[in-house]
Amino acid sequence: MLRWTLLRAAGNDTLATTARRSATVRRVVRRYVAGESVPEGLEAAQRLADRGMDLTLDHVGEFVGSMEQATAAAAVYLELLERIGARGLPAGISIKPSQLGLLLDPSGAAELVGRLAAAADAAGVHMTIDMEDHTTVEATIGLVEGAQTAGHGNVGCAVQSYLHRTAADLRRLTAAGASVRLCKGAYAEPPFVAYQRSVEVDRAFLADARYLLEHGHDPRFATHDHRLVGAIKRAAALRGRDRSTFEFQMLYGVRPDMQRALVTEGYRLRIYVPFGTQWYPYFTRRLAERPANLLFFARALANRDTATGTDHGHVDT
Ligand SMILES: Cc1cc2nc3c(=O)[nH]c(=O)nc-3n(C[C@H](O)[C@H](O)[C@H](O)COP(=O)(O)OP(=O)(O)OC[C@H]3O[C@@H](n4cnc5c(N)ncnc54)[C@H](O)[C@@H]3O)c2cc1C
Repeated sequence: MLRWTLLRAAGNDTLATTARRSATVRRVVRRYVAGESVPEGLEAAQRLADRGMDLTLDHVGEFVGSMEQATAAAAVYLELLERIGARGLPAGISIKPSQLGLLLDPSGAAELVGRLAAAADAAGVHMTIDMEDHTTVEATIGLVEGAQTAGHGNVGCAVQSYLHRTAADLRRLTAAGASVRLCKGAYAEPPFVAYQRSVEVDRAFLADARYLLEHGHDPRFATHDHRLVGAIKRAAALRGRDRSTFEFQMLYGVRPDMQRALVTEGYRLRIYVPFGTQWYPYFTRRLAERPANLLFFARALANRDTATGTDHGHVDT
């Protein structure tokens, strides 16, 4: 119930504006979001790269209101790709289709995806298309298939084990030659499209992971669930898969202890590094994933009240 309420709040523009204006909220957000500018995102990425981790950079933003905004978002990614190349960072990019205008102008969005895919190809880096809510899944897979047909073998996408359709999508994406990031899924989805119980989501995740270990191209397992991480390690070993042939992925700021342990054990690990000013929906989804986060958030707000009095919505410069 709490999760659903938070996930619904993720799409609320008024709450987003209020949160973005609060200096206290922005301080808490820094646990999950690497900064607001391209240089801040790159600096955080560099620190993680120095610890042996690979990265995927996300310029946060979604469900834009115009194709001008979509084009501006793509321009930031083009700049990012240039800087990744110049620094020699072990980083790819993660993009959200709705940030590139998928719901406004599907062919315009496909064109932007094609431009980014070509630039990523030229920079020698991988591009993952994040998966958003279920209404976008078919079109997102279409974008990946289109990119693969156009010769951009570096383009893959995320799939969500909570969706009933995902086992079939995995076969489709694998046949297209695309790499897949497997995650549980972060949106509030109705029972007619998604499993509602975590035991069902986890069971599906494991079945999907086994499929990817047997048939996938460079599979990517995105989870902080230690039981699933352990099960994937065992399944990979059982199939004789070398640790260099698949990777784990985790979010910036989530379970840094597990992140370090995986690198020490010699597994490939990629950290998803979000940055940018439009962090509100991303941050709210992170709060929804773990009830204890709300407590942490409430404590930060309470400390703020004790230390500095009421936050009047002042925005730091
Ligand atoms: C690299 C990456 C990319 C992703 N891309 C997408 C995508 O494209 N589309 C999509 O729908 N979802 C995406 N997700 C989010 C994913 O779907 C889940 O919502 C999220 O990863 C939480 O699920 P979990 O597998 O970690 O398991 P959970 O069962 O949710 O968590 C397991 C444990 O991890 C820790 N944990 C998990 N989340 C948090 C948190 N926010 N704060 C603190 N601790 C936490 C807790 O210790 C928890 O007990 C992505 C996740 C990752 C790691």
